[in-house]
This record gives sequence, structure tokens and C-alpha cells, in this order.
Amino acid sequence: MNSVEQTLSIVKPDAVERNLDNEIKEIFKNKGFIILKEKKIQIEKTEAERFYKVHETKPFYNDLCAYLSSGPIVVMVLEKENAVMANRELMGATNPKDAKDGTIRRKYGISIDKNSVHGSDSVENAKIEIDFFFKD
Ligand code: UDP
Ligand code: MG
Repeated sequence: MNSVEQTLSIVKPDAVERNLDNEIKEIFKNKGFIILKEKKIQIEKTEAERFYKVHETKPFYNDLCAYLSSGPIVVMVLEKENAVMANRELMGATNPKDAKDGTIRRKYGISIDKNSVHGSDSVENAKIEIDFFFKD
């Protein structure tokens, strides 16, 4: 069943630093995503640790949280039919080396940690992640 969903997208520090945020936003719009909300912010490491709590036992957790809080990011709420999976497909594999041609990570990702974008991995997590950044 197809239904309109919302998902959270983050343009990570490596991409914002290279001024790729507008280019990446255009890719989303050209693929039919509506950008419902967006803001450019820099978060504290403790906030990154809360955001990535599911990964707290992983060996890369500390570096990941340090990295996400290392510079400005652009967080967006994207809307489209099947937005969660459509965004995951458009982003490509976590490691840019494994990402398919035409994906954002293939085009812009530098390495598995500096992979330019984040996207929610389920409708349930999308709700949690959207609330995390946009709850007023
Ligand atoms: N990550 C990393 N090293 C790894 C695996 C993941 O630095 O070996 C980072 C990477 O930036 C990734 C993030 O941790 O985007 C979250 O990992 P996840 O497995 O959730 O990948 P994603 O959902 O972002 O594709
Ligand atoms: Mg993930």
C-alpha cells in the first residue's frame, strides 16, 4: 500500500561545509519530495548522543556523535509517497563506495562516516526523529 509519509533528512557537516545543501535540496525536490520544514543548526555533542542513541554500543558511536556536532547541519522534514524508503533509496548505501550510481551518497559521500546525508529508516523512527528536531 502506498501512502504519503514524512521522513527526516539531515545534510551532514561534510556536505554543508562544501556548500552542497542547496544542491542536495534540489535533488530531493526534483524527485518529488516536498520540503515541509527545514533549518540550519549546529547541535551539541550531547544532543547528537541522544539522536544516535540506538548506536550507543557501536564502536563508531563516539566519533559519529563528535562528527555530527562538529559543524552546521541542515535538518529537513520531507514528504512524499513512501517517503521513508524513497529517501533511503535516493541516499544510497551507508558506505558511499557501495552506493549505487545516481544516489546522493555515491555522488557526494567521502567515506562511511562522512557520507553527506542521514535519513530515517522506518516510519516509526521518522516520527521520533522529526519530533526530536521540530517539536515546538
Ligand atoms: N557509521 C560509521 N561507521 C560505520 C557505520 C556507520 O561511521 O561502520 C556512521 C555513518 O555516518 C552512518 C551512521 O553512522 O550514516 C549511522 O549508521 P547506520 O548504520 O544507521 O547507517 P545509515 O542509516 O545512516 O545508512
Ligand atoms: Mg540509520
